[in-house]
Amino acid sequence: MPSAVAVLTAAGSGARLGLGYPKALAQLAACSLVGHAASRLCASGEITQIVVTAPREHLEAVTHALDETPGLTVPWRVVEGGPSRQASVAAGLAALVETMSPSAPYDVVLVHDAARPLASPELVRRVVAAVRAGAGAVVPGLPITDTVKTVEPARPAGIGGREPAPGSLEQVTGTVDRTPLRAVQTPQGFRWDLLLRAHAAGQDRAHDEATAATDDSSLVEALGEPVFVVAGEAGALKITTTHDLAVAQVLVSSSADHPRGTS
Ligand code: C5P
Repeated sequence: MPSAVAVLTAAGSGARLGLGYPKALAQLAACSLVGHAASRLCASGEITQIVVTAPREHLEAVTHALDETPGLTVPWRVVEGGPSRQASVAAGLAALVETMSPSAPYDVVLVHDAARPLASPELVRRVVAAVRAGAGAVVPGLPITDTVKTVEPARPAGIGGREPAPGSLEQVTGTVDRTPLRAVQTPQGFRWDLLLRAHAAGQDRAHDEATAATDDSSLVEALGEPVFVVAGEAGALKITTTHDLAVAQVLVSSSADHPRGTS
């Protein structure tokens, strides 16, 4: 019987959060971000195995955080990540390849970020269902609500000839039609063979953040294969700053009377 497996990325440094340790280990309602994300993957009932990527020097700490997490009902293990998110996902996929048996092949692989700890089990199920319904690559997406501008560094002429302080001003070059824009989230879901092919084709980009893909669906796009969008959710917000962590704290406490996994 084919099964859905997951790579959960947690190998980033989280420098913008300024904790001095990886973002995935930040605490939210007495549970690590990586623990929240892993337990919600499990609560979906769809995932049969999780490979978590962690920074080399924090492999034990991430393992410990997951040992302490209730609700991890499927086999999981921690592997060393790489120099970019793309490289970390590739390391996770390589670990999954090692454990796949011919009698229990994977049909779907999800790639999820520990930086989105509150992505719900419903969202996980929605993504898996869309892949199984025939969409080879699926991302959750939300419409953009802000007005979006393109900018360039301000030209002195643009402010009456006075020299702006370096970097202090940008000049608007246009307003983007936001109708066709989507802010995409994780978990992203793929047919197993398609994601392997996409990572193999894009592997030369992975060694450096400057060239690496920032999500997996763009590697599929680079193959010329279609990528589909399902409805995302506001609760699957990405934790980057202390402000984001504070918002997540509010979200998790406002759903405290629900069992974990249904928030
Ligand atoms: O840095 P950013 O928040 O965009 O990272 C997105 C996700 O990718 C995070 O969950 C982070 O832990 C993970 N990541 C990784 N390996 C890297 C860089 C980021 O697993 N080298």
